[in-house]
Formats: sequence, C-alpha cells, structure tokens
Amino acid sequence: MMNFGKKPASTPVADGSGNCALKVALAGNPNVGKSVLFNALTGAYVTVSNYPGTSVEVARGSTVIGGVSCEIIDTPGMYSILPITEEERVAREILLHESPDVVIHVLDARNLERMLAMTLQLIEAGLPVILVVNIMDEAERMGLAIDIPLLAEKLGIPVIPTAAAKKRGLPELREAIVGYDRKRHAVFGYGRKLEADLMEIMALMSGSYTLSKKSIALLLLQRDEEVAGIVRAAEGDAYPAIEEKVRDKMFARRDSFHLDLSLERKMVVKGLMDGVFSAPDKRKPVFGERLSRWAVRPLTGIPLLLITLYFGLYKFVGSFGAGTVVDFLEGTLFEGYFNPWIISLTNRVVPWEIVRELFVGEYGIITLGLRYAVGIILPIVTTFFLFFSLLEDSGYFPRLALLVDRLFKKIGLTGRAVIPMVLGFGCDTMATMVTRTLETMRERIIATLLLALAIPCSAQLGVILGLLSKFPGALVVWGVCMLLIFLLVGLLASKVVPGESPMFYMELPPMRLPQLSNVLTKTYSRMQWYLMEILPLFILASVLLWLGKITNFFQTLVGWMEPVMSAIGLPRETTVAFIFGFFRRDYGAAGLYDLQTEGLLDARQLTVAAVTLTLFIPCIAQFLIMQKERGTKVAVAIGLFVSGLAFCTGYLLNRFIILTGIL
Ligand code: GDP
Repeated sequence: MMNFGKKPASTPVADGSGNCALKVALAGNPNVGKSVLFNALTGAYVTVSNYPGTSVEVARGSTVIGGVSCEIIDTPGMYSILPITEEERVAREILLHESPDVVIHVLDARNLERMLAMTLQLIEAGLPVILVVNIMDEAERMGLAIDIPLLAEKLGIPVIPTAAAKKRGLPELREAIVGYDRKRHAVFGYGRKLEADLMEIMALMSGSYTLSKKSIALLLLQRDEEVAGIVRAAEGDAYPAIEEKVRDKMFARRDSFHLDLSLERKMVVKGLMDGVFSAPDKRKPVFGERLSRWAVRPLTGIPLLLITLYFGLYKFVGSFGAGTVVDFLEGTLFEGYFNPWIISLTNRVVPWEIVRELFVGEYGIITLGLRYAVGIILPIVTTFFLFFSLLEDSGYFPRLALLVDRLFKKIGLTGRAVIPMVLGFGCDTMATMVTRTLETMRERIIATLLLALAIPCSAQLGVILGLLSKFPGALVVWGVCMLLIFLLVGLLASKVVPGESPMFYMELPPMRLPQLSNVLTKTYSRMQWYLMEILPLFILASVLLWLGKITNFFQTLVGWMEPVMSAIGLPRETTVAFIFGFFRRDYGAAGLYDLQTEGLLDARQLTVAAVTLTLFIPCIAQFLIMQKERGTKVAVAIGLFVSGLAFCTGYLLNRFIILTGIL
C-alpha cells in the first residue's frame, strides 16, 4: 500500500464512532476530471492502494464539509454500469458493495449527450446521485450552452456545473453533498415492450438488493454473470424460473438486446437534452470528431488503418526499431565490441570447454541469448509498445474495433479482440495473456489459437519481411497465405469451438491527442512486464539449445523431421531453422536468413519455408503462457493442430507453386 500522507489525527467526526459520517464516491468515464475533483475536495490526506484482489488502484481521502466528516473515494473510470474491463468491475463493486451515501457522477460538459446515458443508469439503479457537469470552461469557450436548472429538474437530482481544474463550482458541490436528499429523483421509462419484459422478470424477484430490481433485471438481460450470481444467491429456489424467463426474453430478441437497450437509452437522453443543450449553429466538427468518423467508416477507415500500419509498424517499428536501432545495438555494440570482449575474457578465465559453450558458444546464454534479448528484441518491442500505447491513448482502438467487428464476428470473435490481435504483432506471448480480457471462453480460445497460428510477432515479422523483400512475388504469396489461413481457421473454429456467440457494443470515448506522460507510463509498464516475464524464458531457451547440442538430441530430431521437410520440398538444412523456431520464433526466421545467404534456397523454397515457419508452433514463451492461461489440454491441442496445419499448408503451397509456376 502506498501512503501519500497520514489522515490528520484531528479529523472531526460527526457520528462519534470514529468513522466518517458520509461516504462519497466519484464515478464517471476516464478523463472527465474525477482525479482533479478528488484532489480539490480532499487536499493532501489521501491513500492509494490496490483494490483487494486486483491490480486496480483506488484512491481514498477524507475531508470535512460543513462540519461533517466525509470519506471520498475516487473510483476507476467506467463507461457503463455493465463492466467490461477490470477497472469497470472495481468501480461497480465499490458502488454495489460499499453503499456510498452520495455518488457524484462526473461528466465532461462537451460530451454531455453521450455521457448522460450513464447518469440514467446510476439513477435507475437507485443510487444517490449528484451530477457534476465538469470542464464547463472549455464548453463555454466552444460556445456550448447548458441549461443546468432545467437539466436538474428533468433528472430530479442536484446538477452542479464545475471547472474543477479552475476550482470553479466547488463550494456549490460541497453544499450539495451535505444537503443531499436521497429520496428525490426522476423515474425514466423505456418503450412499452421493454418495460413489460422488465416487469415480468422483476415480478419473479423477491430477494433484497443494493441496486434497484429494474437495474438488476436489465443487467440479467445483458448476461452479466456477476449479477446472475448475486441473484442466484438471493433468490435460492426461485432462481431457475428467473433464469428461464431471462432466457426466453433474450431468445425472443435474437441477441440484439445490447443494441436495443442502447437505442432506448439514447431516446431517453434525447428527451433530456431537449431544451437543455444548445451548440452554436455552424459549429464545425473539431478535427478529433472528423477523424473519429473517418476511422469507423470502411471507405475511409481501411485506408486510414493502412496508413497507420505503414507509418507505425513498417516505418517506425520496422525501419527505425528493427533497422537503425538494431544495427547499432546488435551490429556495432554486441558484435563489434561486447561479444569479442566477453568471449576472450571467458576463454582466458574458464578452462572448461563445455561451460564456455554454455555462456559464450554458438548458442551461449550471453553471446546468443543476451545479444538477442537486448540487441534485437528490446529495440523492436520498445518501438512497438510505444506505437501501441500511442494508439491506445488516442482512443483509436475502439474505432478500429467497430470497423472490424463485422469481419471478426464471422470468425467467432468480436471487435474487442482487435486489441490482442494488434498486440500480437508486437509480442504474441503478451497478446495471449491479454486475451483474458475477452468476454467469453470461446472467444479466448479462438483468439489464442489465431495468435499461435497466423499472427507473426514483431521480431519474426522483421526477419521475414527482410528475407522475402528480395522477391516481391514471394512476399505477396506469404501475405495472402497468412490472411487466408487466419480467416479460414477462424471461420472453422467459430463453427467447432463450443460456447455462445459473443455480443459487442462499445461506447466510443472521444479521440484526442495522446498525452506523453500516459504513453510513457503505459510503454514503461509493458516493458517492465516483458523484461520480467520474457527475459528469463530467453535464458531458458539458450540453456535448452545448449543441452540439445551437447546431447546430440538435435541431430536425432533433424533425422526424424527430414522426411517431412523433403515432402514439402525443402532441403534438410532447413530442419534446424524449424527446431530453433520453437525456442524463439525469430531464431527460426534468422536461420532461414543464413540459409538464403548461403544460396541454399530458391524463391519457391523460401516462400514455402517462410509460410510454414510462420504458422508452425509458437515460441516456447508463448506456449508456456498458453498453458497457464488456457490449461494444458487446450495448449497441447492448439500446438498439435497448428504444427499439423503448418506442414499441410507447406505441402500444398509447394505443389501449387510448382504446378502454376508463379514464382
Ligand atoms: P479522470 O480520469 O476522470 O480522473 O480525469 P483527470 O482528473 O485525470 O483529468 C483529465 C484531464 O482533464 C486532465 O488533463 C485535467 O487537467 C483536465 N481537466 C479536469 N478538469 C478540468 C476542467 O474543469 N477544465 C479543463 N479545461 N480541464 C480539466
């Protein structure tokens, strides 16, 4: 637990029990000014600690308002009361289980319409809500006018306009907190059909809950597992009937419930906005808004995606990271200075050949493992993570998710899977871990499979692009093969892997210029993870390679694999590249590079080898994470399937190229 200051011993308490008299929770989207408001309300007396059982930090502070001592909790950002991320889960947990006396919903005045939907959800849940319309200074500058008293009347709750960063509106907010009357709030109705459905479900519920029954019924219809668990516990024998009713209703709606509900809520919000909000007539959409629209429409979104990938992945990660920086670190520093120095030092100091081999031999921990990890992989993943964090902080990913959602649905995923898939181009191992953020087990398995099969990591991609760029035709064949396999296997997996089809609905946060401090923090924490989790595995791989060499095990393996290699038209020497490929995907590709420079592979063989190797079993680190995340059975099944498919594809591709003579 981090302590940023002690609670003052003299904190006055109004209830005499030593506890704060009022518990106040701040809730709302990320980036609306909750933290600024929290700091303004609490001053220096703050503790920040992880929420129990999670890695999410929650800040708590205390203050005295009008003689009443208050505990203020800054909840993590949430877009809706139905949680998707761990942050949202924690935020809801606080609202559900800590029974705050006041929930302050903070929103951004500039995005009033979009954010009011959550105010509705909080009021509907029966929570004691005060609405804070923050960032009023910016809204005024843009000429937006908001009739606050009218909005307060329509919502039936206190609404306070603020500019927290400028300390505007704070006295009014403090007054509203201590004078809060939780009985007053408006009631909102949906369309007749939805209301009737909700009534039927609510009629079956007799337990007592911290949220309103209407809110619980809505969450059940949205298949919220956690809430289903709470209802199961509260209702006992009555639960199966509720579950059946929910299932009936969902069946009748053919799974479009998320969308239906969001449209219904939009209608209610439209009604609220009427007469409350006005914008200058000819307000030109700001650049971020236009960019946002371009990003989600296929006609502009796909070119935009290609431009982003070209500059981000190809130019920045590929040319700069994998080219310039690697040349310097690996070529100049390691090969030129460090390795010769450490080799001669070891030769002088260590008398045993076998130990020298282990540390500074052909596959030595230092000469190969460290050189690879620091000289090649580190610059590539650092530049990749920088690029990824930049995109993440700009708000581009949710747009990309919408853009690809239709296509991804066909392969059993949803737009949400776009994040692990893009991350896979950096490091498949990390991406495999991130698949746990996907909603259903089915999605997680399919995403894990596709990552293991068809998404090359940055290190591998770098070497393969370099290798094939000499034969442009080969590069096209490789790209088409990968895309086809990705789609075909996805399509097949969506038919075979059991489980429900996922739904996808996402609130779009505004697009904005990424903030340097956010980008750096995110990149730093990813790098830290990478070094802690992956670096030890590199060292393990070096040790295993050394063992394989001294025990002659590789020779035996090469013997076993030779018939397979010749069946797919490759010379015997390529076998070693495939075995290395398991230890590090890029070792394999780098092995091919050597063979090609020796003139052992022609364009056809190079293409077949590159395709087979990209598809072939993931590296050892990814395999271990697969096992940890999905269990041994699934990991082994995926490993076997992927290897089998890799060689079948290699065989067919070889035949195809020979028959058609395209290369
Ligand atoms: P949180 O994610 O909701 O906790 O948001 P923060 O408190 O970190 O604020 C997000 C950004 O909005 C920061 O850059 C703040 O300086 C800025 N901000 C917060 N309140 C105001 C405000 O009233 N006016 C303006 N112009 N900016 C604000």
